[in-house]
Amino acid sequence: MNQGCPNPKCKVHQQVLFQKKDGHYFREDDAKYIQRFKCKICSKKYSTATFKLEYKQKKRRWNQFIRRDYTAGKSMNRMAMHLKLHPKTIERKIQYLAEKARRSQKNLLQKLKKNQISEIQFDDLIASIHTKLKPVSISVVIDPNQRLILGARVAEIPAFGKIAEISNRKYGRRQNLHPKTLDRLLYELRENIASNCLFKTDEHKRYPGIILKNYPKASHLTHKGERATVAGFGEMKQRAFDPLFQINQILAMFRANMNRLFRRSWNTSKTQASLQEHVDIFIDYFNEELRMNVKRCKKI
Ligand SMILES: [Zn+2]
Repeated sequence: MNQGCPNPKCKVHQQVLFQKKDGHYFREDDAKYIQRFKCKICSKKYSTATFKLEYKQKKRRWNQFIRRDYTAGKSMNRMAMHLKLHPKTIERKIQYLAEKARRSQKNLLQKLKKNQISEIQFDDLIASIHTKLKPVSISVVIDPNQRLILGARVAEIPAFGKIAEISNRKYGRRQNLHPKTLDRLLYELRENIASNCLFKTDEHKRYPGIILKNYPKASHLTHKGERATVAGFGEMKQRAFDPLFQINQILAMFRANMNRLFRRSWNTSKTQASLQEHVDIFIDYFNEELRMNVKRCKKI
């Protein structure tokens, strides 16, 4: 979209009234004619491409493939090999795709504000950065009725269990930022979630306090973690009725579709920021494409 003169010092900055058409150019990258403009006041030249997030990209055609493959368990190196792009290009494109995904998710939440959500489920995935000794949690909040992921945030947590001592010795004390991050996420979703909403979670000891703080009128049901068991040749089998089926199923999809979250994966996250980027891209792709595979889910 044309947003008018991009010169911040110009009197008619971001106004379309004082612009005139100034020819066009052919963009070879995606074979499109791009309209150019010129500001009548400051003579600044610009085009419809100036305001796009893809501005100055030279390989636009590959964006959709990277988005599709990155959320289908493909590694960054394999994408570089198959698309014949430099690994650095893939890295940059992922940063761009993450920004685009965040904007799209923000728009979706804005749209959903009209119909506030009456039921929420949330839970955490445990992942790690660089080594199992540096674990992180990914808090995921969903709307089970529309099968929508509302948000997911990565947070540093200390190592627990047998490796706690080794982790402490090798990498020092790790902060527990999980409660703060989850609290922040629920706070940010306050305009989408009804104040008398029903929260369904497992029996994590910190959850009731965080819910009560952000939604004092809400009700909270806890269920024992009745995870699906792995049976036979390793497929998922449900043992009994699972009241938290929707959230467990979506967490399983995170694990099945993001290479770095695979069990016994050769891929690891190198930084927390890149893990968050991957999560952001997955949320957007899930809400837009994957959730529609279930018949009852309609396009929003
Ligand atoms: Zn101007």
